Amino acid sequence: MRIDLHTHSDRSDGTVSPAELVRRAARTGLDVVALTDHDTADGWDEAALVAQGCGIGFVPGIEISCQHAGAAVHLLAYSPDPASEPLDAELHKVLAGRIARLPAILDRLRAAGIDITIEDVRQQAVSAVALGRPHVADALAALGVVSDRDEAFDRFLAPGRPGYAHRYAADLTETIHLVTAAGGVSVLAHPWARQSRSVLSAAVLTELQAHGLVGIEVDHQDHDTPTRAELRQLASRLGLVATGSSDYHGTGKVDHELGCNVTEPAELMALLAAARTAADAVGRSALQLAQP
Ligand code: AMP
Ligand code: ZN
Ligand code: FE
Ligand code: FE
Repeated sequence: MRIDLHTHSDRSDGTVSPAELVRRAARTGLDVVALTDHDTADGWDEAALVAQGCGIGFVPGIEISCQHAGAAVHLLAYSPDPASEPLDAELHKVLAGRIARLPAILDRLRAAGIDITIEDVRQQAVSAVALGRPHVADALAALGVVSDRDEAFDRFLAPGRPGYAHRYAADLTETIHLVTAAGGVSVLAHPWARQSRSVLSAAVLTELQAHGLVGIEVDHQDHDTPTRAELRQLASRLGLVATGSSDYHGTGKVDHELGCNVTEPAELMALLAAARTAADAVGRSALQLAQP
C-alpha cells in the first residue's frame, strides 16, 4: 500500500487542481493521498469526490503556517473540523496576513528596480485561497525577470533578500491545541528542515507531544538520510507516528513528485486511530477519513 500524506493543489501554491492532483495520485499508483494546502481546507470536497471515483483513500489535511521561538514551523493538521470556530478564526488570521504582506513585498521589489503589480500576482493565483511568495515568484517568471521559482526565492524572496517581507504566523503550541479542539491530529511537517531544526530539539518535541502532537514527518526531501534515521529513532522512542510524503507542488517544486516518499501502512493506522480518538473526544463522528 502506497500512502502520501502531504501535497499541495492550486488552492495554495501547487500548480494543479485538487481533482487533477487526486487523479495523478491514482495514476501514479498511490492507494491513499492527503491534500494539505497551506492554511486552507478549500480543496477537500473536490479532492474527496474524485478520490471516491478513483477508488483511492483520501485524508483531508491543512499545512498550517506556524512559528515557534521565532522560527517558521509548518504543522500538518489532519481531519480537523475546519468550521471549528477558534481554528477557523486563526486560519483566517494567517490568510489575511498573507494578503497584507503582498504590498510590502511589491514595494520592496520596486525599490530593487522590479515593477510588478498585485494584478500580476493575482493572475498567477486565480484559484488560490492562500496567496504566497510562490505566486510572486511565478509573476516574476512570467515577466521574464527570473526563470523559475527557485531563482526567484534565491535572488528576491528568501529571508535576507531584497523582496522579503515578514507575515503573521500562528503560535505552534496554541495551534496544536486548536487542532485537537477541532477533533483533528497534529503532525510536524519536515521538522528538521534547515529553518526549523534549531528550534525543534528532541526536548521540544517531547514538550509538544505533551501538548497533543501526534506525529512527525520523517521521510521528506528536506531531510537527508542520517536526519531521517535520527528522526525515525526519535519517533519510535517517544511514541510519535512517523510519516513520509512528497510535499508535491505540481511543477512548483522540483524533485517532489507524488509518492517520492511514502508512509508505512502501520503508521497510517496509528494516525487514523489517533484521529478517531480526537474526533470522539469532541463528539464528532469519524469524518471523511478514508478507509484504506
Ligand atoms: P510563504 O508561505 O508565502 O511564506 O512561502 C513559502 C512557501 O514557498 C513554502 O511553503 C514552499 O512551499 C515555497 N518555497 C519555498 N522556497 C521555495 C523555492 N526555492 N522554490 C519553490 N518554492 C519554494
Ligand atoms: Zn508550498
Ligand atoms: Fe512546508
Ligand atoms: Fe508543504
